[in-house]
Amino acid sequence: MSDAGAPVLDVRGLTRSFTQGDVTIEVLRGVDLSVGPGEIVALLGPSGSGKSTLLQAVGLLEGGFGGSIRIGGVEAAGLDQQGRTEMRRDKLGFVYQFHHLLPDFSATENVVLPQLIRDRPPAEAQARAERLLTSLGLGARLTHRPNQLSGGEQQRVAVARALANKPALVLADEPTGNLDEGTANVVLQEFLRLVREEGSAALIATHNERLAAQMDRVLRLHEGKLG
Ligand code: ADP
Ligand code: MG
Repeated sequence: MSDAGAPVLDVRGLTRSFTQGDVTIEVLRGVDLSVGPGEIVALLGPSGSGKSTLLQAVGLLEGGFGGSIRIGGVEAAGLDQQGRTEMRRDKLGFVYQFHHLLPDFSATENVVLPQLIRDRPPAEAQARAERLLTSLGLGARLTHRPNQLSGGEQQRVAVARALANKPALVLADEPTGNLDEGTANVVLQEFLRLVREEGSAALIATHNERLAAQMDRVLRLHEGKLG
């Protein structure tokens, strides 16, 4: 946790609405939010409150937003498609509710690949992948493919992949939402520990108050704004 230094993420006046036929739903109505270096922030709100919409905006995955999103001090709105892709690759890591691992690749390979895309030498990428996975208790699962892993193990691999390139900011959308309560708790603890060890910041969406309470700060999404 840190308030020092420029924010990793600074969002101002973020708006997003969806129109279908005659009906327009304003999902985000001017969201302001700032995350400091190494800070872990919970994004709490009931289903349908706009958590995923907000994370998609910050993850630069979709257009159609109003307002400002600065990541590492750089305004994302001014970037073209390639600029957004590079910013995602260089600054962000993602964990989704469903792991989205590559099914034909081993746990280690799933964590190596994003590093190769960043031009890390293969031997270094391999060593880092094995270290991250071992730290998450998967030392005996390195060569398993996703379908040979339990749900909790799959999410641990997804956590290691998200941290592979030491992102300034990890975005996680209900990362343990697909797991039973006991497993969700254990995986979240390990996720938070590793994020802290690696020095990344994180913005983690959840509808679970107890999980949110374990983070450095809790932001509540209500009627399209953060309170
Ligand atoms: P949460 O992740 O908090 O459950 P979402 O961000 O998924 O909420 O959705 C917020 C609201 O936006 C919901 O009412 C949903 O129906 C609407 N919404 C999300 N994505 C779309 C879309 N692509 N088209 C139309 N409406 C959408
Ligand atoms: Mg969602």
